Amino acid sequence: MSKRKLTRQQQHRIQKVQDERLARAQKKADKIESQLEGGELGEARRGLIIAHYGITTEVEAEDGTTVRCHKRSNLPPLVTGDQVIWQPDPQEGGVIVATEERRTLLSRPDSRGQLRPVASNIDRIIIVAAPTPRTPANLIDRYLVAAAHDEIHPIILLNKSDQLDQAPDMVREMEEYRDLGYETHAVSAQTEEGMQAIRALVADGNSVFVGQSGVGKSSIIAALLPDEVIRVGAISEATGKGKHTTTTAALYHIPGAGNLIDSPGIREFGLWHVETDSLFQGFPELDDAAGRCKFRDCAHETEPGCAVRAAVESGKLLPRRYHSFLSIRDSLNEVSMRK
Ligand code: GDP
Ligand code: ZN
Repeated sequence: MSKRKLTRQQQHRIQKVQDERLARAQKKADKIESQLEGGELGEARRGLIIAHYGITTEVEAEDGTTVRCHKRSNLPPLVTGDQVIWQPDPQEGGVIVATEERRTLLSRPDSRGQLRPVASNIDRIIIVAAPTPRTPANLIDRYLVAAAHDEIHPIILLNKSDQLDQAPDMVREMEEYRDLGYETHAVSAQTEEGMQAIRALVADGNSVFVGQSGVGKSSIIAALLPDEVIRVGAISEATGKGKHTTTTAALYHIPGAGNLIDSPGIREFGLWHVETDSLFQGFPELDDAAGRCKFRDCAHETEPGCAVRAAVESGKLLPRRYHSFLSIRDSLNEVSMRK
């Protein structure tokens, strides 16, 4: 997108819109406080945020009905997946007055590079890989690092198992991940082979599917949510820097059990925010060896006495994972240098 210079008149109009929005938000916040003070709101009850639209959220009450809620202004930003306490407004909607502690939090940087929460209480990140388009193993490693960073259980799911003849080496690759201790599954969204195991996998808690475009995420999700119309949670939001599209995550109940949290942003959820220091979390086997390097600040490249390289050379560590580690580290360094 090219950045146009705004005319004075346009700047004035944007400022006016922003001022009006701020005034409205302040008025709403004041109203909420006076409603709370006056005891005008209904009794407090539990709820679950299933979608998020700018300043309002869709809260699912314990009886399964949904209600549009504002939040008290003293609360931190809320996201889909949050467990909240809310009070009904007798006129319409409700007010979120408290939040429960989050088990996990998925964040990603916004257009200004600031880390923003995207969804909470995610129990597993299902990394979808496929023989076509052939998922680079390095990409799986990147997702593993990101999942470890956010302390969310990763699962590697090889889809299009009906097309494995297109990349037979992926079978071996999956075995290697299993040997490293990662949970892996194979499935074909097309033939439905293995789908039963996936249903069992997502039968409790909140799951997200991530992976590059074309690997079959939509197909798997469609198989899990036959009757749901997937609401595409894209809303446009005017910001001080002009207009851009933000995408919001939505929570879907899988018939039977378990929830899916999905959004275009989550699907391509990446690594940009991981510090080089925490890279090892996604490479536990390298981390082990690194503890035995001669130099504490060993970069595991050309240093003498590097236990990581020694382990790679003696066949104890997979060269592929070692090179993947170096290349991810390089790319993270590039990002941090650009900041
Ligand atoms: P997404 O971009 O990850 O959401 O991928 P899609 O679900 O849109 O799938 C991309 C293409 O792969 C579509 O043409 C699907 O029909 C096809 N596809 C998805 N799953 C399978 C599978 O298990 N086997 C085969 N052969 N094709 C699949
Ligand atoms: Zn070393």
